[in-house]
Amino acid sequence: LRQGLGKTRLGLINQLKAIVGQGPLNKDAVFEIEALLLQADVGIEATDFVIETLQQKLRDETLPPEEAIAYLKQILRDLLDKPYENGYKPDFIPEKDQFNIWLMTGVNGAGKTTTIGKLAHLAQKSDYRCLIAAADTFRAAAVEQVKIWGQRSNTDVIANPGKNTDPAAVVFDAITAATARNTELLLVDTAGRLQNKKNLMEELSKIRRIIDKKAPNAQIESLLVLDATLGQNGLRQAEVFAEAAQLSGVVLTKLDGSAKGGVALAVVKQLGLPIRFIGAGEGIEDLRPFSSYEFVEALLN
Ligand code: GDP
Repeated sequence: LRQGLGKTRLGLINQLKAIVGQGPLNKDAVFEIEALLLQADVGIEATDFVIETLQQKLRDETLPPEEAIAYLKQILRDLLDKPYENGYKPDFIPEKDQFNIWLMTGVNGAGKTTTIGKLAHLAQKSDYRCLIAAADTFRAAAVEQVKIWGQRSNTDVIANPGKNTDPAAVVFDAITAATARNTELLLVDTAGRLQNKKNLMEELSKIRRIIDKKAPNAQIESLLVLDATLGQNGLRQAEVFAEAAQLSGVVLTKLDGSAKGGVALAVVKQLGLPIRFIGAGEGIEDLRPFSSYEFVEALLN
């Protein structure tokens, strides 16, 4: 599978063919599509949008099966690409010879550390000078975990050995190191405590203040790592982070083990954020830049 979507596939193509094979897309057929989308956790808002758009088209014309499917794919792709019309840049590639800082956020267990390791690996493969800041100082295990991923990806990790270290202090040290080394991409692991939104906000804004002060020319991105298997529940988490951090995109993880890949559409529709990468496995290579085309092909097949 091109996007490694595993169970996320809707099998919609065959079902659609069966539905529209009997004639033009009628009301019953649209209801069946609606049910399939909801089943895949596309969510009510995005599903409504898709179905309404589909119905509008079918009001004035009937579409043969192939065209109906192509049109549905286009609706889904357009939905996923919508954030690019609203100021989010479509090419999510760190600029060479610039200082890029990517803040990685997300609740514990979402796959944040793993994603940082995969991103570092991707950066190394593309000849970026990359560095990791272990600023999730809340959990001792998190620092160890990120160090393991640093070794795997051949990337240095800046961490503070002391207990109860201030995450902003780690970021400060990491920027010092990054500046000395001409680092192009600094990946910052942050704590994923969702229990207390105020703490989360304060911690993230403190980190940003340090960055603004110490690296005013850096290109800052803030990525939310989201576990796709949580479906609509993950979306509620995402809303909290969207409030706490100025997010520039989402990494959707565990799509390999999920039948809820449709949540990508819900995320984009409800939060207006673009999906940047998808995680489809626990290995270092199992991260891909997001492509709406490939995603929709995999989702419907
Ligand atoms: P963190 O607490 O957010 O840093 O999460 P971790 O990176 O430690 O990941 C939590 C668990 O999810 C680990 O067992 C990872 O191997 C697993 N994991 C992370 N990303 C993926 C993915 O894309 N697919 C699968 N199947 N497992 C993943």
